[in-house]
Amino acid sequence: ATMPPLLSAIANAGRHGVLVKSAVVMERLGEVSQVALDKTGTLTEGAPRVAAVRVLGQEAPAGGGATAACAVVARDAALALAAAAEQPSEHPLARAVVDAANERGLTLEPADAFASAPGSGVRAVVAGQEVRVGSPAATLGERARTAAPLGLAHGYADAPPAPPREHPDGASHAAGRAPRPAPAEASRALADTPRAGAEAAPVVAEAWRVVDEEEGAGRTAVVVLVAGRPVAVLAVEDRTRAGAADAVAALRELTGAEPALLTGDNGRAAARLAAETGIGDVRADLLPQDKVASVRAWQEAGHKVLVVGDGVNDAPALAAAHSGIAMGRAGSDLALETADAVVVRDELGTVPAVVALSRRARRVVR
Ligand code: ADP
Ligand code: MG
Repeated sequence: ATMPPLLSAIANAGRHGVLVKSAVVMERLGEVSQVALDKTGTLTEGAPRVAAVRVLGQEAPAGGGATAACAVVARDAALALAAAAEQPSEHPLARAVVDAANERGLTLEPADAFASAPGSGVRAVVAGQEVRVGSPAATLGERARTAAPLGLAHGYADAPPAPPREHPDGASHAAGRAPRPAPAEASRALADTPRAGAEAAPVVAEAWRVVDEEEGAGRTAVVVLVAGRPVAVLAVEDRTRAGAADAVAALRELTGAEPALLTGDNGRAAARLAAETGIGDVRADLLPQDKVASVRAWQEAGHKVLVVGDGVNDAPALAAAHSGIAMGRAGSDLALETADAVVVRDELGTVPAVVALSRRARRVVR
């Protein structure tokens, strides 16, 4: 017997390097009319590197001034604490921080009371001290309102709860697995200690200046707080995937709609990547539930949305979408389980390829 068209399309997708989980999924992919792509790990390689560790609180040293040796000690100490707190996290940024510490031969203390808030950062107790590592907004609080940041502003402790994970076919792909607290709970867990205290105000202002410099250079700034005080800013660089611009163009061609970039990262890093890959719709500073809100808004406008992502922070949007595709190599377990299909060969060009395969199979079925 000849194979039914949707099954041979699944086999074909496999040859292209995409694992499509069912014939229903294979069929739905061809209906997609709007595509949303995550940034870190999806449009970028997801193998970020710490390019600089900027120690804070040393601009105007009282009584003498810090020596160069002292600055190195402070840099390594800050990096070691950050890496210790990041060890349990599977976020690409966490791996970059741990790798940087390992490259410098630093010894990492074990982390206690680890909590992570997808899209925000992590918190842990290291050597008896509370260490937080995360986005500037999550760690430093509201930016002093000088210039309006790009994208949506979002609260942190009082963010609305994430919508429940659901899937169009009614199945919960993440059932029976609860590796992390739900985003809303985690946000609360991370925020229930005060942010940088009032006495830290000058160093908070300095931290924002350093963050602005690094973000202006297209890097992702990660802030390290120890006992509520900002001690360092880590500047992280990630490479754009080869073939990302071609994949974006192919998806635009297939859907006739402008592909969108949905990211939890800052507006400047997002704008730079969008320019590089030719994406005209950029939405930055998004929490996981903000990604879901974008998906729902398109769906209310009649679109069938395809979300492509890799992180725990993408899982709610992958579940809410008509179709969800996860990047397999750097992807988190939760994203791989929640998605309808997984890119096994680590190339973004496989995404338009499977949409096209689905379209062809659907034409044969009819
Ligand atoms: P994206 O949507 O681009 O994949 P995420 O939503 O995963 O990005 O992360 C958004 C931001 O939250 C990051 O740019 C970073 O500032 C912060 N963040 C998230 N997880 C971590 C972590 N484990 N360590 C440090 N920062 C983190
Ligand atoms: Mg990501």
